[in-house]
Amino acid sequence: MTYPGDAEFGFELVTCRWAERAWPPDRETDAVPVVARQLGTQRRRWDTVVVEADPDALDARAQFGERALDSDLLHIVRNAPAEWAWYRDALPDPGYPWRYVRAAVHRADDRGVVGTRRRGNRIEIRRIAPYPDWVRRIVAVENKPDLDASAARALADQLDHDVHTALADEVWVATAATGATVEPALLEDLPVEAGVLALDFAGPEATVAWHPATLDPTSDTSMPADEKADKRLEIAERAYGSGWRSYVETMRSDCRWFELRDRADAFVPWCVAKSCHQTAAACSGSCPEFQPEPPAWRTRGWPIEGGPGKGIERLLAARRERRRRR
Ligand code: SF4
Repeated sequence: MTYPGDAEFGFELVTCRWAERAWPPDRETDAVPVVARQLGTQRRRWDTVVVEADPDALDARAQFGERALDSDLLHIVRNAPAEWAWYRDALPDPGYPWRYVRAAVHRADDRGVVGTRRRGNRIEIRRIAPYPDWVRRIVAVENKPDLDASAARALADQLDHDVHTALADEVWVATAATGATVEPALLEDLPVEAGVLALDFAGPEATVAWHPATLDPTSDTSMPADEKADKRLEIAERAYGSGWRSYVETMRSDCRWFELRDRADAFVPWCVAKSCHQTAAACSGSCPEFQPEPPAWRTRGWPIEGGPGKGIERLLAARRERRRRR
């Protein structure tokens, strides 16, 4: 079987599903892979991100809810004291006006990730629990099912940037296995620090065609080490919050032609009208073939609110939640 569809999107979903089940491909670990897609920085967005999480600390992270904590909320939950204190005494100077911190404290309180109380006109905070050190490693994977010479050239600069910035601990390229003794990807001009994974969707199984170098995110590069530490945690939080199945939230699952099909153990969107695995970009509000689910679908056989599209969203959300709980 080849990768599903004519788009990298389907390949990416299968890669994510494989990583969720089998990461890492080259060593033993008790780390739990938290997998997400299309995350990174303003400058660089990775196709697949694998956060290798400490199992116990990942469980402890659950106390802070299933949604990602953004940088403002992280500032609060990581510094909130065990005993009540005025938030300005308790938190380090943020480097921006305190009124923004105060707004974030209210947001943190609404989310239940910090305790607050009022003493006169002062707001005091107290942590609900220590924020756990749950992120062990962050791995970036670029998905290129057909890694020919021109795709490799386009990718080489991006991988070079990743290697030199060292925001991730490892950088990989995932490509579709060809069965050749030497995977064609190895013959292309990629940085030697990037690993190469050949994915065979019959399993799905992956073979390490080239081992990556371990990068050092604690080093100062084009991005200072402390800035990297903050960015890494923000990326990990976003991975935790979104997972890789959140693609459905940007697609028209409420279209009568939208289906999920099992491909290599991953649910991959299928468009009945076009008879193909559609991309997320094509399956949007501007799709000329879009047709809403018939109202009858929402009353017959779909007793909970919404039609099959809502059912699909619930199914994927439930799977995402199950992964968080290991
Ligand atoms: S017809 Fe368009 S909107 Fe509907 S499932 Fe297909 S691609 Fe998505």
